[in-house]
Amino acid sequence: MSHLMNTYARLPVAFARGEGVWLWDTEGKRYLDALAGVAVNAVGHSHPKLVSALRNQVGTLIHTSNIYHIEAQEKLADKIAQLSGMDAVFFCNSGAEANEAAIKIARYYGHKKGIENPAVVVLENSFHGRTLATLSATGSRKVQAGFEPLVSGFVRVPFNDLDAVQRVATSNKNVVAILAELVQGEGGVSVCGSGYLKGLRDICDAHGWLLMLDEVQTGIGRTGTLFAFQHYGVTPDVMTLAKGLGGGVPIGACVAKGTAATLFQPGSHGSTFGGNTLACTAGLATLDIVESENLCRNATEIGEHIRTSLKRVLAETPGVKEIRGQGMLIGIELDRPCGELVKTALNAGLLINVTADNVVRLVPPLILSHAEADQLVNELAPIIRSFLMKSAPAAA
Ligand SMILES: *Cc1c(COP(=O)(O)O)cnc(C)c1O
Repeated sequence: MSHLMNTYARLPVAFARGEGVWLWDTEGKRYLDALAGVAVNAVGHSHPKLVSALRNQVGTLIHTSNIYHIEAQEKLADKIAQLSGMDAVFFCNSGAEANEAAIKIARYYGHKKGIENPAVVVLENSFHGRTLATLSATGSRKVQAGFEPLVSGFVRVPFNDLDAVQRVATSNKNVVAILAELVQGEGGVSVCGSGYLKGLRDICDAHGWLLMLDEVQTGIGRTGTLFAFQHYGVTPDVMTLAKGLGGGVPIGACVAKGTAATLFQPGSHGSTFGGNTLACTAGLATLDIVESENLCRNATEIGEHIRTSLKRVLAETPGVKEIRGQGMLIGIELDRPCGELVKTALNAGLLINVTADNVVRLVPPLILSHAEADQLVNELAPIIRSFLMKSAPAAA
């Protein structure tokens, strides 16, 4: 019997090594990795530059403490500030922790304004993590059920609906911030409309709210710009990062601008591991690779190529509702639950995943080549087609 807690419905495979977009299991079978550890392995597996940066660092210094200055942490903060146009970074170890920091900043900001019970607007179908505050912010009953009482101080509105946010703004004086994903990854790869972020910025400015973006999945080139907000010419007050930032080494970041960047003082927040030398070295190497190999451009071009190809081979297939996404965050919505596709694809040597029950999600490493993208489409399309032919559509 396993001594692991039963938190995951694991697939019957374990991987022994990886290179680029490929993984090999313990039996030696090769897989095309279109999941990238759920948008984590942005630069693929065993990237030589990341490997050598980590090797050198491990042999020199892994961890000290935030009691001291940490050079790699300062450097990574400078880099993130320079690339995002934002001012200051708090480092932690995961996406949930980055969002916890953001929520704490919002509450602190509220209290400074004299609001005793500050609230944060959050969206339906959002995902912000599994800690108590972040699961309370998450718009999914499945994530929350059984863990009540939830953390209070969240007001929920539909995704991509500016009028609903406006209504909260005029009726609820306790609101101090909004926390939003621009593409809801776990929520089914829903992309916000082109005017949404600007609309949120205007509402936030009019009411003195902090605009906080959860870029844990969309950040680090995933959508074709280094950060998803950069598609819209609007800068948030707070942005959270994690998944792609360390190329596989755990790291999270809460990035802030203006007032939001100045609120935390010694004693306000902290993390033992957050921003340690090894994790920040991984972050620096990953960002360096993303920049020097033009991976944002690759995510745009190859992502577009994948969507176009999928539309060409699947658009007329009954049961395929929509093919959508931004950059290399791609969703194929079917008209029925399709979780079993993950196993079929696995058997065929393809790693994919399904979110929101009926959306096939592709988040391959950003280094995916044109030929590898073609192989992905050519192998995935027939799997989806034969699944749709032999399974019954969901009752309307
Ligand atoms: C994955 C994810 C999180 C949670 O990150 P963890 O590292 O698992 O805590 C939060 N927000 C978004 C948008 C995510 O995709």
